[in-house]
Amino acid sequence: MDANCLFCKIIRGDIPAKKLYENDEVLAFWDISPQAPTHFLVIPKRHIAGPAAMGGEDEQLIGKVMRIGARLATENGIGDGFRIVFNNGLEAGQTVFHIHMHILGGRRMNWPPG
Ligand code: AMP
Ligand code: ZN
Repeated sequence: MDANCLFCKIIRGDIPAKKLYENDEVLAFWDISPQAPTHFLVIPKRHIAGPAAMGGEDEQLIGKVMRIGARLATENGIGDGFRIVFNNGLEAGQTVFHIHMHILGGRRMNWPPG
């Protein structure tokens, strides 16, 4: 837990979020500024700043984030195609320094990404 972290505050319930899924290790909630018709975030409850801050002990946890996110994509109607994004660092557009997996779908996803 990081007292100043926005997503830790959401996990604690100090800031509201529209949740789609929660268990003791993982939380999924709708992105407040969706970039596609379906856009949600999946985060571990453990505070990790980003992919580059992961330790070996986080591998299983982030595997769960990915598996749960893919299942939620299918359950929310975008199983035919969705984009998974982890932004790491300012230059990549990371704005919240609690690791989070974006899942986007419901429109044609372009490649290369912006
Ligand atoms: P990133 O730019 O990869 O760090 O992604 C952070 C994401 O968090 C952005 O897509 C924001 O729209 C989203 N976001 C920021 N604050 C909230 C919030 N209070 N509830 C839900 N999503 C949020
Ligand atoms: Zn945090």
